[in-house]
Amino acid sequence: MYDDRMRDRKGKKQMLDKKVVELLNKQVNKEFFSAYLYLDFSNYYYDEGLDGFGNWFKVQAQEERDHATLMIQYLQNNGEKVELQAIDKPGAPTKSAKGVLEETLKHEQYVTGLIHTIYDAAYEAKDFRTMQFLDWFVKEQGEEEKNAENLIKRFALFGDDPKTLYMLDSELGARVYAAPTLVL
Ligand code: MG
Repeated sequence: MYDDRMRDRKGKKQMLDKKVVELLNKQVNKEFFSAYLYLDFSNYYYDEGLDGFGNWFKVQAQEERDHATLMIQYLQNNGEKVELQAIDKPGAPTKSAKGVLEETLKHEQYVTGLIHTIYDAAYEAKDFRTMQFLDWFVKEQGEEEKNAENLIKRFALFGDDPKTLYMLDSELGARVYAAPTLVL
């Protein structure tokens, strides 16, 4: 049953819960911030001469913009208003090749928590449509965390020796952007 939370002021039935819409709007901003943060990391690696790492994070930034765009499109598909907010400046990261990777994992764990909070609100509101939409993001976050963990592990194995670091950097340089698998 839809309760009052699913109706706007004119009594028109809304499909999405108000609180969920608010959280999705906030998440649009967080995804753009993630893109900004990863561009900052990308720039750091390019400055250090690790162009492969720089490329990997540049592609990652593109993926984050896709996440934001998907959320915008989802809101629009459901007749909801999108309000873009100012994007925070990335804070001064630990400027070390290893530290950046650790920050990436921490950031992804934070984003996972945000996605779960939206999912929880959708669950509470019986907003099944949003739950279904968010399923993709829940899975995506699992992959993002795994990717960051793998980078940390491989840097620990290969980061100290210039030869193996060069090989790892070359491998990351081969990453190419692919459009998201979620189509709305
Ligand atoms: Mg994301």
